[in-house]
Amino acid sequence: MRLTVLGCAGSFPGPESACSSYLVEEDGFRLLVDFGTGALSALQRYASLKSVDAILLTHLHCDHMQDACSYVVVRRYAPDGPYPPVPVYAPSGAPDRLATAYSPDDGPLDDVYTFYGLQPGTFPIGPFTVTVDRVNHPVETYGVRLEAAGRVLAYSADTAPCDALLRLAHGADVFLCEAAYMDGEDNPPDLHMTGREAGEAATKAGVGRLLLTHLVPAWGSEALTYEAAAAAYAGYVEIVRPGARYDI
Ligand SMILES: [Zn+2]
Ligand SMILES: [Zn+2]
Repeated sequence: MRLTVLGCAGSFPGPESACSSYLVEEDGFRLLVDFGTGALSALQRYASLKSVDAILLTHLHCDHMQDACSYVVVRRYAPDGPYPPVPVYAPSGAPDRLATAYSPDDGPLDDVYTFYGLQPGTFPIGPFTVTVDRVNHPVETYGVRLEAAGRVLAYSADTAPCDALLRLAHGADVFLCEAAYMDGEDNPPDLHMTGREAGEAATKAGVGRLLLTHLVPAWGSEALTYEAAAAAYAGYVEIVRPGARYDI
């Protein structure tokens, strides 16, 4: 399994990064996990526009889904298109939400996307065995566990600490976890995690590597987030960068 970080900026795009989007490849199959603002630009560095086989949106906050609207143009109006509908696994409100965000007057996106409503459970997407569960965020949000060829990638999506996240990440080879908040600040509850909380979750779940993501541009400190996570987790910790690739 190969993970490519297309974008990792939390909440809004940064000067060097799109918002959350991760290309996960296995055996030639390309799954896009989240499709945040600016990710369509980054995608073109690593894959042809046509080559996305499936999309999974963890939730419908703009920084995780906005470029699924931009991508409508690509598939619907390509000179060698239109391309066949691509499956989109997303919270149940996705068809209306994306169609409205794309254009309130243009109707449904059924010619571009085949939508599947997420529910907690396990199901296949191409070569991946996918497990999703609701995590602790103000809107319907799913953490993700991807398994293929005996390897496991877990992704927190956006969440505050919760038991579902620990179950999804249990024993994962790689745990891609958000760390949007700074430790020691008066953070709102039930929204995001700090570096320390990400490290604690990694320790409890017994993961192989901790990759921190969704740090918010300009508002926090990468150094302090890293230190806090590394103090709470004895394994390998890294803050991901756009374009970083990991063989899992
Ligand atoms: Zn977010
Ligand atoms: Zn969110």
